[in-house]
Amino acid sequence: MNLVYLLLGTNEGNRMDFLEKAILKIPKIGLIITQSSIYETAAWGLESQAAFLNQIVVVETEHKAIEVLAKTQAIEKDLGRQRKIKWGARTIDIDILYFNDEIINSEQLTIPHPRLHERAFTLIPMVEIAPDLIHPVFGLNQKELLQKCEDDLEVLKY
Ligand code: ATP
Ligand code: CA
Ligand code: CA
Repeated sequence: MNLVYLLLGTNEGNRMDFLEKAILKIPKIGLIITQSSIYETAAWGLESQAAFLNQIVVVETEHKAIEVLAKTQAIEKDLGRQRKIKWGARTIDIDILYFNDEIINSEQLTIPHPRLHERAFTLIPMVEIAPDLIHPVFGLNQKELLQKCEDDLEVLKY
């Protein structure tokens, strides 16, 4: 069995509804072990757009990482995600943060997620649910990554 950390994000339409609908589809990937609180953050990257809701879901799965990616992309598609501009508004985005303690660098998949350590909206829910989890590339736990992170966007429990 594999343990995968998924980050859900939404900033378009009825955000709570999209989060709930995405969570209801997670059993296609595996068994939900843990869910973080939901957090609200101003949009990162393109800061003029609507604020995001983010939540981390930990899933136990028998699928390989690349299969999990296919399933998360199918869920995004089901929930009406349009791929328009980079970092643009989306009904639902599902990123794979960690897959066991594996390091994966393929054309389609980089694990751990290559920007997770730069983002307070990812590190704050990670510290909530798995403060001692070690990032296999940096050798730092989530609390240490958050201390080093320079992202000053406010992340509030929703
Ligand atoms: P960011 O990756 O900065 O959060 P984004 O989520 O908006 O941006 P997407 O358009 O959703 O980016 O994804 C672009 C591509 O990233 C996907 O097609 C996928 O193949 C690739 N990708 C690489 N690593 C991962 C990962 N760990 N989780 C999800 N997608 C990944
Ligand atoms: Ca993302
Ligand atoms: Ca994504």
